[in-house]
Amino acid sequence: MPVAFDLWRELIRVFPTIFSLEAGRYLITAGLFSLIIWAFWRSHYAARKIQTRSATAQDYRREVFASLRTALIFSITGFGMYCAHSAGWLTIYEDFTVKGPLYFVATLIAMILAQDAYFYWTHRAMHHPRLFRTFHWTHHKSKTPTPWAAYAFDVPEAIVVVAFVPLWAALVPMHDLAIFAFVTWQIVRNVMGHAGVEMYPVSGKPSRLFGWWNTTTHHDLHHQNGRSNYGLYFSWWDRWMGTEHPDYQAEVAAFAICPLRRKKPARASGAIASLIALAFASSLIMHGHARAQTRSEIAGNWATNGFGSIVQFHPCASAPQTMCGRIIWMWEPNDAQGRPRVDNHNPERGLRTRSLIGVEIVRNLRETESGVWTAGALYNPDDGRTYTGVITLRNGMLELRGCALSVFCQTQIWRRPDDVLLAARSLGQ
Ligand SMILES: [Zn+2]
Ligand SMILES: [Zn+2]
Repeated sequence: MPVAFDLWRELIRVFPTIFSLEAGRYLITAGLFSLIIWAFWRSHYAARKIQTRSATAQDYRREVFASLRTALIFSITGFGMYCAHSAGWLTIYEDFTVKGPLYFVATLIAMILAQDAYFYWTHRAMHHPRLFRTFHWTHHKSKTPTPWAAYAFDVPEAIVVVAFVPLWAALVPMHDLAIFAFVTWQIVRNVMGHAGVEMYPVSGKPSRLFGWWNTTTHHDLHHQNGRSNYGLYFSWWDRWMGTEHPDYQAEVAAFAICPLRRKKPARASGAIASLIALAFASSLIMHGHARAQTRSEIAGNWATNGFGSIVQFHPCASAPQTMCGRIIWMWEPNDAQGRPRVDNHNPERGLRTRSLIGVEIVRNLRETESGVWTAGALYNPDDGRTYTGVITLRNGMLELRGCALSVFCQTQIWRRPDDVLLAARSLGQ
């Protein structure tokens, strides 16, 4: 019987990482964009300021406080997703070869398009007089938004916004990095939409090619009047539903890049592109760190007691947060009669003829504290028994302690094959 998922232990172990990732993503992205607006203010952004009013210090304080509170709610959801994933309820895969690059790109684009629709309709609903005060009031206190307003939501709004991610992940198998790319896209577009200055290159007349891409002016107008421009990333829902601000095209055209001044804007655009790349890279590093924390140090090959066989550990196909191990090599692959060894002690009669090579003898191990793996099932083909217990990684060795029916207990030490070979070689011939 697998040991129950230790919620509190997992909470203490994983939650701080998830929160620093969520809060860090917000602080880094909003901070970087504030920096670029400040650095290019005189040469570029002063002329692209959308409103004459400026945000007050109180506006900044409120936006940062509410956004960090939202990051906390996002982290609670993230932890919930981590638990659900460990239980096998969500299909988030890490192996890129499982579904290939086309699936990766298609599901990422589909997720963005679906969230854009989800946002448009939930956002419009939150503007209903009965819902507005509870759900959406805080966000609209920012009449002149700043990059720090990106996550400035009331608690109920934050819950509505974040609910999309687990809902989507429950329906569509997603690659771990596709979800990461999605959340990075979300924060970058949100920060740019609240920048207070027009961040996107715009032309003097409605662009046929890029008219569907929401500019900063688009969302800024929403903060100014709250009765139009509900869309998030793209403008098509506002167009289809007739909710686009009547002056939007004229307002955005006012920021068209003048050909004579192209040099300076180009420098600012280059800086924005580098910043997006930087935000993406730093976010990727944080993500990699978090992933490494939840990933196994026990992956790879292990030689069993007496070098009788080699077992390869890998993330389980059905629940990639857990580890499985299968026999990939045996010292004596054949029995006394010269026939390939089979699983002849297996309690299931039908499995007794299967070859031992390839048998998954370790299933669903979960790291419950650093270097300690519990739950799961350890199958011993020598006696056909399945054990539950604890695997500890200590000084580069795996110590396996398992009991079957709480009576038959065993301890084994497994070593890395290379370590055994190295020790043998160091003795010479
Ligand atoms: Zn907004
Ligand atoms: Zn709104």
